[in-house]
Amino acid sequence: MNILVINAGSSSLKYQLIDMDAEKVLAKGLVERIGIEGANLQHRPAGKEEVRIETPMKDHVDGMKLVLDALVDKNHGVIASMDEIGAVGHRVVHGGESFKESVLIDDAVMAAIEENVPLAPLHNPANIMGIKACLSVMPKTPMVAVFDTAFHQTMPAKAYLYGLPIDLYRRLKVRRYGFHGTSHMYVSKKAAELLGKPVESLKIVTCHLGNGSSVSAVDGGRSVDTSMGLTPLEGLMMGTRCGDMDPAIVKYLMDRDHLSIEDVDKILNKKSGLLGVSDLSSDMRDITSAAASGNEDAANALEMFCYRIKKYIGAYAAAMGGLDVIVLTAGIGENVAIVREKVLSGLEFLGVKMDKVKNESRPKDVLISTDDSKVKVLVIATDEEMTIARDTQRLVKG
Ligand code: ADP
Repeated sequence: MNILVINAGSSSLKYQLIDMDAEKVLAKGLVERIGIEGANLQHRPAGKEEVRIETPMKDHVDGMKLVLDALVDKNHGVIASMDEIGAVGHRVVHGGESFKESVLIDDAVMAAIEENVPLAPLHNPANIMGIKACLSVMPKTPMVAVFDTAFHQTMPAKAYLYGLPIDLYRRLKVRRYGFHGTSHMYVSKKAAELLGKPVESLKIVTCHLGNGSSVSAVDGGRSVDTSMGLTPLEGLMMGTRCGDMDPAIVKYLMDRDHLSIEDVDKILNKKSGLLGVSDLSSDMRDITSAAASGNEDAANALEMFCYRIKKYIGAYAAAMGGLDVIVLTAGIGENVAIVREKVLSGLEFLGVKMDKVKNESRPKDVLISTDDSKVKVLVIATDEEMTIARDTQRLVKG
């Protein structure tokens, strides 16, 4: 069965068509600037030339039509007709407390995703547009929703409640949800597989380090804590997000700089993190090269980024009462050796021994800890699309 995976943003659609029998990506691509001047499709069919098509698109329906046309095109297509798409898996950011796992989409599911819009006002409406666009162009194809939050629904109350009046949880659902669930789930399972041990027997800390970054404590295959909260702003310092800070800073900034709450929100989400501290870039490649050539602010940004990850690893080892495995994944976790080194050094007291040579050797799906390290450290290439496709296939096949 071929499964189309869709990740819809407010003006974009990312897609992958995966042949699930071989678990092979047939084509992937991106539609950008939907509803904006310069709308375009970049389509990458496996084994063929990449194509770029610029054409106006008024909405996500136009975008989806273009994607399907590209997939069946006689030159750069990869399937003969739409009938060869068995199902569609949609990434949905916020499932709130309604969804503890992936589900087949029907009217009730759509209504529940709508209900969670206040929890993710930027993301869920875009995901809903993506689903509706797909339903309108392929009404008979089964659709599945896979939620970023679902994997973390196993957290106990002591981990997900905030120290706020309980009424705010009961009435407004203010609690920790966590994100990157498909990634934390994928890499924790993959770690167990690579180590040849049942995931049920392992205490794993998974570090998803990309533009958005989060850490999870995965005990026996279940998420028991994670660093992102009600929104993705909490936890680690990220590309442009501040991560953990004293919430009183919000009022202080509003008072001192006469800012609106929207101004402060923008500072915390878009102008902070690596970008804010370095005053240079949100991209780790720029930060490491500037730090290496003596830029003090970039060096501080790099140190802060790593120090905070290290603190979470320590905290989650304590939360689980032990630690067997650390996984590093996503753009930074998979590619930046200096970050891995700074995160892991100083954790010897927990039983972590990093192998410097392995760490420098562009590791992928392998150990970077020494043979005698009590805690195994793995670099794993995350694959959120494959996780979505597998869940979709499982649900469609019943
Ligand atoms: P997201 O999916 O959250 O947008 P990614 O997982 O792609 O983010 O990670 C983006 C981050 O990873 C950026 O900071 C970027 O500098 C870093 N990164 C990605 N690839 C590389 C690489 N080959 N070398 C160094 N850094 C990389």
